[in-house]
Amino acid sequence: VSAFRCGRECEETVMTTQSEELGPLRTTVPGVELTSQADSRLLDGVRAGIAARFGVDRVEHYLAPPVIARATVDSSGYPQLFPHLLGTVQTALDRAEPGAMDLVLTPAACHHMYPLFAARTVVDDRCLSVEATCFRGEATSELGRLRSFRMYEIVRVGTPDSVSVWRDAALDSAVDWLRQLGLRVNVDVASDPFFGRPGRLMAEIQRAEELKREMIAELSDGVSQSIASVNYHREHFGEAFEISLPDGAVAHSACLAFGLDRILIALRHAHGDLLDEWPSPVRSALRL
Ligand SMILES: [Zn+2]
Repeated sequence: VSAFRCGRECEETVMTTQSEELGPLRTTVPGVELTSQADSRLLDGVRAGIAARFGVDRVEHYLAPPVIARATVDSSGYPQLFPHLLGTVQTALDRAEPGAMDLVLTPAACHHMYPLFAARTVVDDRCLSVEATCFRGEATSELGRLRSFRMYEIVRVGTPDSVSVWRDAALDSAVDWLRQLGLRVNVDVASDPFFGRPGRLMAEIQRAEELKREMIAELSDGVSQSIASVNYHREHFGEAFEISLPDGAVAHSACLAFGLDRILIALRHAHGDLLDEWPSPVRSALRL
């Protein structure tokens, strides 16, 4: 800003902009928010904290684009299970009539990982991590219910025993880390918002077998949301992408997913808007 040399009028404009109270997040349309510079700094701290805790130096880490192959989500059955959440991409290719592309909007970060293992045998358990900007066609827009949001996931693929042991350890570690950040976290058995009547049955099975557990924190007084979850998919993605184990069995998978935008809201609710005044253990955990 100081490099600008455009006279008194411009300087005054800059001063006005700087002194306005912009708040931490800016909404343009419901569920679609801009990230302020202070929140970018905070996001980097959360990313660094997750990476330190969950060993990004030991696992391959990816940044995924906001689109994914339609064929990939078709393989896992996502369009049938969540037609109400999936966002499609349309364009007028070759200036013809607009039509659906071979891409859709990324519904969850981990969906980018399973095709990497397609038709392969996993000899040793593999751990990968990925961050993606995701889209879900949410019908409501209460605090934290975003249509575009950033998800940081750690994905484990391997034998049923090792994946379920990893899932339990990942949950404990994530809860511990979030509590170190000063967040009051409760763990709850949960289900995904499957579509329609068959979906209700799937949600019941998911709950009965405790395949999904959410870490829930307060985002504002009286409003709590899931800020992270662990999901055990059993052989769902292994079957969809023909991922096998050395004995010929289908590989299992699980993921630990952090909702970065919701974690930011929860942190600001817990500690206030002035990052420099946050408790020093929290600041050092987030490298602020
Ligand atoms: Zn996932």
